[in-house]
Amino acid sequence: MSAAFGVATAGPPVEPTPINSVGVIGAGLMGNGIAHVCALAGLPVVLLDVKPEALQRAMATIAQNLDRQIRAATITPEEKDAALARITTATDYGAFAECDLVIEAATEKEDVKRVVYQMLTPHLKPACMIASNTSSISITRLGASTDRAEKFIGMHFMNPAPVMRLIEVIRGIATDEATFAAIVALAGKLHKTVVVAEDFPAFIVNRILVPMINEAVYALYEGVASVAAIDTALKLGANHRLGPLELADFIGLDTCLSIMQVLYEGLSDSKYRPCPLLIKYVEAGWLGRKTGRGFYDYSQTPPRPTR
Ligand code: NAD
Repeated sequence: MSAAFGVATAGPPVEPTPINSVGVIGAGLMGNGIAHVCALAGLPVVLLDVKPEALQRAMATIAQNLDRQIRAATITPEEKDAALARITTATDYGAFAECDLVIEAATEKEDVKRVVYQMLTPHLKPACMIASNTSSISITRLGASTDRAEKFIGMHFMNPAPVMRLIEVIRGIATDEATFAAIVALAGKLHKTVVVAEDFPAFIVNRILVPMINEAVYALYEGVASVAAIDTALKLGANHRLGPLELADFIGLDTCLSIMQVLYEGLSDSKYRPCPLLIKYVEAGWLGRKTGRGFYDYSQTPPRPTR
């Protein structure tokens, strides 16, 4: 079952452009999950990263996550093997020549994404669409930096992509209706529910979620309570499945900081000022789960709060 909310189109319905093969750029937290769901839905996937070791790690993670789905009886071992066989890895953009859509899930930094698009677009066929998985950056601005703003769109998967049912779809000012229809149709094929957001900093989920996380870091910074107390308070007091600091570690503190910076600069409102403690953790390289330390130390089981 899938559904789309807030889908307003300017004119008569447009036939979606078929998407029969997908490229994914960035094999980090999100890229591996996006490759996983596309391959499981029957699409051939090319997964690219600058770091060959990121590609190796991503393939191992995808295999582990598919095993988890086998244990939960949501897929069969044959489906796992078929999905893995549909994914090829690459470090050369030439591998995207036949793709109908490339989903960019590289690091949340605008200059990184611009360099990626410059390297990518000469290799694409003219009809190929580009979707960014950015959590916060303007889709209009990113699209304008490519040679195909009308075929550029925001397709924001949630973390972990194989589990979370939502995709936010964001049109830039130039995005055409055929691209929008194609992405909504693809989301349906991936069994996801679409919400449509306008192109404002951080869209819907992160506009609300990340300032809450930033506020939790302020509470820690100001000495209101310890890491464990803040997370326990929100879990038991607000019925959240994860505490805000656990969630920050899960998302990645660098990504959280980048989103706060985009909100702060994009909306020019001091209420989005990133907490100095969040900045300090990122400067220290304490980025959360992915580096083994953030608000918790993951070298121990269970992870130990660091403050
Ligand atoms: P990550 O740090 O886990 O992975 C980023 C990957 O991009 C790394 O493997 C890195 O090697 C690769 N990369 C960097 N520069 C590159 C380049 N020039 N060419 C190719 N690959 C390059 O980050 P992530 O959490 O997977 O985030 C990726 C994107 O997804 C960001 O835009 C982020 O905002 C978005 N996002 C993140 C989350 C989350 O919870 N972490 C959720 C939704 C969306």
